[in-house]
Amino acid sequence: MSLSPARLDRFARHIVLPEIGGAGQVALAGKHIAVIGLGGIGSPALQYLAGVGVGRFTLVDDDVVDASNLQRQTIFTARDVGHGKATSARRWLANFDEALTVEISDSRIDADNAGRLLEGADLVLDGTDNFATRLAVSDACVAERTPLLSAAVGRFQGQVGAFAGHLADSPCYRCFVGDAFDAEDCDTCAEDGMLGAMAGWTGSFAAMQAVRVLLAGVSRFGDPQWGKLHMLDGLQPGMRTLTIAKDPACKGCGVPG
Ligand SMILES: [Zn+2]
Repeated sequence: MSLSPARLDRFARHIVLPEIGGAGQVALAGKHIAVIGLGGIGSPALQYLAGVGVGRFTLVDDDVVDASNLQRQTIFTARDVGHGKATSARRWLANFDEALTVEISDSRIDADNAGRLLEGADLVLDGTDNFATRLAVSDACVAERTPLLSAAVGRFQGQVGAFAGHLADSPCYRCFVGDAFDAEDCDTCAEDGMLGAMAGWTGSFAAMQAVRVLLAGVSRFGDPQWGKLHMLDGLQPGMRTLTIAKDPACKGCGVPG
């Protein structure tokens, strides 16, 4: 596979980076990422993932654009209010780069359909806002042997972690949070408030970590950082990093018995 002159021109600023290069750009064009949740994290993440030239997207969100989303969900404009997020996101992608392949689902993702919705993806980026969904996505990723980049934001705290629970030494998202949240819907955004730029920082950082995962084994930037959880603090601006251990008894990725 090679890139056309138009694509070489479009991605020239990546290709000159020794950490990405032509090989990295070609690899990205062949990758498929599933973005679950097209909200405050998914919107900016999608913009940067499309910008970097990831070739194929599956977009999953069952929500409809509300006027109160516009202060942080950067792919939507006033004319999208009242329309489905997945459909509106596909329109944004088509306007941005018609070379990209897009599939959408406006189903609510759960334990029953997650495996089918994520099938074939090289990476899943989860930016949804409740634990029950996040755990269902994590379990499906382990079952499908698909890496998961999990990103969350609340008030001025963001989190971005990379998980590969299907690997013997790597934790899954459930190793990190445990089983207590399976039935709990923690959609607190409406009550808690959210500065758009904070969600944007978390989402764009998630996109950067996604590129690291997708380029593993291809170019120097490819370092998946499995089990590393980066915590973003917007009040006392800075980041710190935790290492999550694999839980041998984890019901998502542990060894049965
Ligand atoms: Zn686990």
